[in-house]
Amino acid sequence: MAKTAVVKYFEDKCIGCKACTVVCSNWVENGEKVRPLKTKISGKEIEENKKAESACPVEAIKIIEK
Ligand code: SF4
Repeated sequence: MAKTAVVKYFEDKCIGCKACTVVCSNWVENGEKVRPLKTKISGKEIEENKKAESACPVEAIKIIEK
């Protein structure tokens, strides 16, 4: 079975730099901040979303693998 993961977004930490939207298509602008299109991800999406996790300067994104 394909690996799955859950995307967590801590909006209160987010400073709206939009770095996540540059490195991962799951992250889109949402006014001053951002939001993830999907919160349950699998396969290649996990690596893509981990790029957003790494790019975030304030640890507002966590990818939790099952
Ligand atoms: S990279 Fe982090 S701080 Fe920047 S917009 Fe995305 S979630 Fe917010």
